[in-house]
Amino acid sequence: FVKSSGKDHFKIFESNLSEKEKRKFILQTSLESSLKNKAFYLMYQPRMDVQTGRTSTFESLIRWDNPELGLVNPSEFIKIAEETGDIVPLGEWVLSESLRTLKHLHLSGMKHLKVSVNVSVRQLYHSHFDQTISSMLQQYQLPPSSLELEVTESMLINDDQEISNVLKSLRAQGVCLSIDDFGTGNSSISYLKRLSVDVLKIDRSFITGLPGAKENAAITAAMINLAHDLNIKVVCEGIETKEELAAIIKMNSDEVQGYFISYPLSKEDLFLFLNNETVKGRKLLDHFKPPA
Ligand code: C2E
Ligand code: MG
Ligand code: MG
Ligand code: MG
Repeated sequence: FVKSSGKDHFKIFESNLSEKEKRKFILQTSLESSLKNKAFYLMYQPRMDVQTGRTSTFESLIRWDNPELGLVNPSEFIKIAEETGDIVPLGEWVLSESLRTLKHLHLSGMKHLKVSVNVSVRQLYHSHFDQTISSMLQQYQLPPSSLELEVTESMLINDDQEISNVLKSLRAQGVCLSIDDFGTGNSSISYLKRLSVDVLKIDRSFITGLPGAKENAAITAAMINLAHDLNIKVVCEGIETKEELAAIIKMNSDEVQGYFISYPLSKEDLFLFLNNETVKGRKLLDHFKPPA
C-alpha cells in the first residue's frame, strides 16, 4: 500500500488492518527515524570460560525503545529491518557501539575481553562488509581477534560464494566467527568442512532439562564431541539452572552463557559485573568441581 502521512489516509488503513499488521507498519516506518533519534540501545550478556570462571566474551543484544510501542525485542523487529534494508545501517551502529564499549573495557585494563555481535545475512551481502569491519577495528584500535561475529546456520547451507568469500576474508583479517543457534538450522553440517569457524554456540533448546532430558543430553554430548574433534570451541547457550550448568561442565563445554550465569546487562551493570566477577565465577565453579 501507499505510505502517506496524510491523516485521512492513515484512518483508512487503520480500519482495514489487523492489530498485528498495524504494529508491523509502525515498526517498518519508524526504524529510520529511531536510528536517527538514538532510540536503540544495547544490552550485553557475559559468556563465562569454564576453566577460569571469568568472562571471556560478552554478546551485544539490541533493544528498541519505540516511541509508540515501548520496548520491542529483536525477535520482532530484526526480520522487519532485514526486509526494509534498515538492518545495514542498524547493524553498523550495533558494531560500532559494541566496539566502543569493548574499547572502554580494554582501556580500563580488561584487555582479554572480546565482544560478539550478531549479524544478518543482508549485512554480509552488502558491499564491502569486510572492509567496513576492518576500518571500524582500526578506528577503535582494537585487535581483530577481539571481535567475534555470530552467524546462523541458515546463512551457510546454500554454499553461497559471495557469503563464503566475505566470511573467509573476515577470518583472514583475524576476526572470529561463530555459528549461533547451532543444531536448529535443520541443515546439513557439511559447511563445517568448507568454512573454518572458531566457535559453535549450541542452542538453548538442547540445554533445557539437562541432565534429566535424555535426548537433549545425547545430542548435546555429540555436538560437543564433534566440535572438539574439528578443533572448534563450544559455547552452550541459555543455561538457566545449576543442574544444567553442572551437566554442561561434565560434558566439557568450553564456555557457558545464560540467565544462570548472567542476564543481559546494561553497560554500567556489565562494568560492575566484570569488576566483581573473580569471586563470583569461582564460587559458581566451586559448586561443580571435586575438592582438590
Ligand atoms: P541469540 O543471538 O541466540 O541470543 C540469545 C537470546 O536468548 C537473547 O534474546 C538473550 O536475551 C536470550 N537468552 C540468553 N540467556 C537466556 C536464558 O538463559 N534463557 C532464555 N530463555 N533466554 C536467554 P534477545 O536479546 O531477545 O535476542 C533474540 C535474538 O535476536 C538473538 O538470538 C539474535 O538472533 C537476534 N539479535 C539480537 N541482537 C541482534 C543484533 O544486534 N543484530 C542482529 N542481526 N540480530 C540480533
Ligand atoms: Mg547470538
Ligand atoms: Mg543463539
Ligand atoms: Mg537464539
